[in-house]
Amino acid sequence: MPAALLDGKKLAQTIQGEIASAAAAFEQKHGLRPGLAAVLVGNNPASHIYVRNKRKACAQTGIDSWLHELPEETSQVQLLDLIASLNADAKVHGILVQLPLPRQIDEATIIRAVTPIKDVDGFGPENLGLLVTGQPRYVPGTPAGVHQLLIRNGVALAGAHVVIVGRSNIVGKPLALILMQKAAGANATVTVCHSRSNNLAALTRQADVVVVAIGQAEFLKADMVRPGAVVVDVGINRLKDGKLVGDVDFAGVSQVASAISPVPGGVGPMTITMLLQNTLAAATLQTK
Ligand code: NDP
Repeated sequence: MPAALLDGKKLAQTIQGEIASAAAAFEQKHGLRPGLAAVLVGNNPASHIYVRNKRKACAQTGIDSWLHELPEETSQVQLLDLIASLNADAKVHGILVQLPLPRQIDEATIIRAVTPIKDVDGFGPENLGLLVTGQPRYVPGTPAGVHQLLIRNGVALAGAHVVIVGRSNIVGKPLALILMQKAAGANATVTVCHSRSNNLAALTRQADVVVVAIGQAEFLKADMVRPGAVVVDVGINRLKDGKLVGDVDFAGVSQVASAISPVPGGVGPMTITMLLQNTLAAATLQTK
């Protein structure tokens, strides 16, 4: 395999070590730990795994976490009541509402209900607005993780053409905003593609860096990538045989790319790590 591996698992461990040191210093200074409240509604098995992994990472880095589990039939009013109590709880510096939510609950309403200073997922309009205007506070975990994976592996972004496939509010759109910031470690030229883009392969072939976040197993093939390009795979797809694969045909693309992130072990661990980083930042901002 000619491509170098963008090893998110290893990098996540390094950054979590840095977060653990900072969390210990925070505790020593303030006599309390950074704290994250996780809210899990319903029985989605993947959500249960994601929340368990996030809480485990909190425990490993010296961040307190509390789990609020609510049944599938929870009403929007009940969830809003819980969020109001967490907004008012001084021990809670960050609030994570695991998505997706059951159908009777409007996600946008819930996201807006989390007070912006505790919105460590960075999904609310205030934190996204700060990113748009070049004053990032809490940047959503997955795109922040992709960014760290690139810059900490020495991928030059200034002036580079980054093509992002996928325009969701939690991955594609905020990633474009991060990479086009007028700031060190950014200054990229960004193209965002989606399911209505014409001739997608012609666009991805122009890229110095391709990021794919669409949720379609092994979609990006070797002939869609310019030789020597860097490829980041955000997708998580489970095949019928139970195997976990990304949105990139890893076997083929790794023959042409200069560097590539694996699934699992690429963007996933970085996402969790960035949530921890936001929680630490939230604790610092809320503790004088
Ligand atoms: P969404 O379903 O919200 O968005 C998918 C995007 O991909 C849409 O913009 C859609 O276009 C676009 N798209 C779908 N099919 C195509 C296609 N054939 N060609 C071009 N564009 C296409 O997904 P998410 O952003 O939430 O997630 C994307 C993937 O990333 C999923 O596999 C998810 O599991 C994974 N993920 C991984 C995380 C991690 O920590 N590693 C975290 C979050 C997500 P349109 O807008 O036109 O519909």
